[in-house]
Amino acid sequence: MLEIVAVPAFADNYLWLIHDPVSGETVAVDPGDSVPLLAEAERRGWPIGQVWNTHWHPDHSGGNEAVKQAGATVYAPASEAARIPGVDVALKEGDRVRIGEHQAEVWEVPGHTLGHIAYVLRDDGIAFVGDTLFAMGCGRLFEGTPQQMFESLQRIAALPADTRLYCAHEYTLSNARFAAAAEPANDAIAHRLKAVEQARQAGEMTVPTTVAEELQTNVFVRAHDPQDFARLRTSKDTFR
Ligand code: ZN
Ligand code: FE
Repeated sequence: MLEIVAVPAFADNYLWLIHDPVSGETVAVDPGDSVPLLAEAERRGWPIGQVWNTHWHPDHSGGNEAVKQAGATVYAPASEAARIPGVDVALKEGDRVRIGEHQAEVWEVPGHTLGHIAYVLRDDGIAFVGDTLFAMGCGRLFEGTPQQMFESLQRIAALPADTRLYCAHEYTLSNARFAAAAEPANDAIAHRLKAVEQARQAGEMTVPTTVAEELQTNVFVRAHDPQDFARLRTSKDTFR
């Protein structure tokens, strides 16, 4: 079993450490800030051998150079490699990376950025989805089209229902409030909003999520088509 640890950074980012106790290997997913990340790795005695970046935004790649200097090889999406510090290995759709005996497929999931990738560890029932899918939400469309993001979300949501989805931000409360307004008759959303309010009041994380939960409560995953998705995304951009 892989151990997965969240390292909170900035206002609402989660940087992820994946540790394989069998091989002793450790991967850092999206090390936006090397300081808390390296401190946590050190505290646990987990030297970081690899960085897996999902996209170029600095809150995901800003710590690359420092983690690389501490001994890591940096994997990142090929089409964004020029904008990501310290890339050693450029990844495309269908490539595979590994931690010990565990394998991750690289999926291109454009929308938030054009080159955004996800790391899907099918045998482990785990996916690192960066800023593509959030618990009850999705990333903003900075570079891609609604059609691209719609397809990226549908692809992630087609993973087995018990797949755990590790996203990069704690945005769930704001997403839940929007979801409750967008689908007022959806009981699953109403219940999850309450649970998320309680969790956040108690200072608890609401990530990872699962495919099953998102199918029931993520209005962007539940969008009927790219037009419906676009309408929701635009209205979320200005929702308060
Ligand atoms: Zn981003
Ligand atoms: Fe981000």
